[in-house]
Amino acid sequence: MGSLALSRVEVADQPAPTIVDEVARLARRDLAPLALAIDAGSAYPDALLRGFGEIGAWGSHVPQEGPADLRCAIQSIAAIGEVCGATAFMAWCQNTLVWYAANSTNLKLARRFGDSFSSGRVLGGTGLSNPMKSFFGIEKLKLKGRKVEGGYVVKGALPWVSNLGPDHFFGTIFEREDEGGGIVMFLADCSDPAITLQPCKPFLAMDGTGTYGVQFRDAFVPDELILAEQAAPFVKKIRAGFILLQTGMALGLIKDCIEIMDEVEAPLGHVNRYLPQQPTQFRELHAEFEKEVMALASDPYNSDDSYWRRVVALRLRLGDASVAAAHAAMLHCGARGYLKSHRAQRRLREAYFVAIVTPATKQLRKMLAGDEH
Ligand SMILES: Cc1cc2nc3c(=O)[nH]c(=O)nc-3n(C[C@H](O)[C@H](O)[C@H](O)COP(=O)(O)OP(=O)(O)OC[C@H]3O[C@@H](n4cnc5c(N)ncnc54)[C@H](O)[C@@H]3O)c2cc1C
Repeated sequence: MGSLALSRVEVADQPAPTIVDEVARLARRDLAPLALAIDAGSAYPDALLRGFGEIGAWGSHVPQEGPADLRCAIQSIAAIGEVCGATAFMAWCQNTLVWYAANSTNLKLARRFGDSFSSGRVLGGTGLSNPMKSFFGIEKLKLKGRKVEGGYVVKGALPWVSNLGPDHFFGTIFEREDEGGGIVMFLADCSDPAITLQPCKPFLAMDGTGTYGVQFRDAFVPDELILAEQAAPFVKKIRAGFILLQTGMALGLIKDCIEIMDEVEAPLGHVNRYLPQQPTQFRELHAEFEKEVMALASDPYNSDDSYWRRVVALRLRLGDASVAAAHAAMLHCGARGYLKSHRAQRRLREAYFVAIVTPATKQLRKMLAGDEH
């Protein structure tokens, strides 16, 4: 947290609240009452996501003439994730969209979308799971495109893209059919009639996240929506940020699991102390993770291989630790946590998402094994 002092403005003896403080306050006040409905899939919190944008939650990581700093964005996602894992995931989607636009060298695109994404006026996400898997030889690219006058024509389908709605945008990648090896990254405009959103079957969790299957039926993508004509070097630039922003989901979730264990200490501590995993251990682990996240997040353009491996290894550990903390919270709660109305079981379901969202545990292990393509 010491790093956040950087964005703190001292006024007399009263420090002004940081963006993270404001996000945490809004999460406790307006998100907490909605968390059950979001989990049940009966609410998609678009107004609240815009509200977070208005207080700066989606703008702090935009690079300022060179370097970028993801620390405040990650702490904000964590503050949201302490209350609701699904909304922390949507926060990641939005922050990732902002990250793409902010790193694009397409000035027309940056001018048109930069502010509207980072202020939350326009919402959206990212369809990079399939491309990220394709870069590591796990599956083939699902979208195909060809050059036409003024842009490209794109076809294909992505099975899951989140934080979407009829006027939303998301960044993704197609493979050029007309140029071997060419891959292009672009913004998909959900209001385009040639791009259709299909509701998904109910999930274990994350149903309130605006997640759809997306079909492209010869959709015309104009040049002004191209994030990068050469997607490969662009992805190399943004990939550490893509993964590091996900760490906020895990940090928030683990913190709340510790809180859940603490809450049952008074009535059940006399027997819970026989459980192998205790909140103290998770507190130490959380502090260690936070330190490593903050160190890596202040330097997201570092192109050293050793830096990239640290990012991947940290992400793997955070997925494992999320599941472990939620599992421990369930065991500490006993029957209390087995009630549908208790958040312990929601935390467990959310934790599995941290471990399976791309890059999933198995992909991270493949990457660390060195089987990169
Ligand atoms: C709730 C939710 C939200 C998601 N949001 C996004 C998002 O915003 N952006 C994004 O890019 N990705 C998103 N994903 C995808 C996610 O990041 C992972 O890619 C996905 O969970 C599978 O990853 P995996 O590496 O375990 O692959 P695996 O599950 O091992 O394999 C994935 C492949 O298996 C096939 N497959 C498996 N199950 C099904 C099924 N039920 N229907 C159709 N095909 C299937 C598909 O070919 C798919 O590409 C989302 C997934 C979920 C469950």
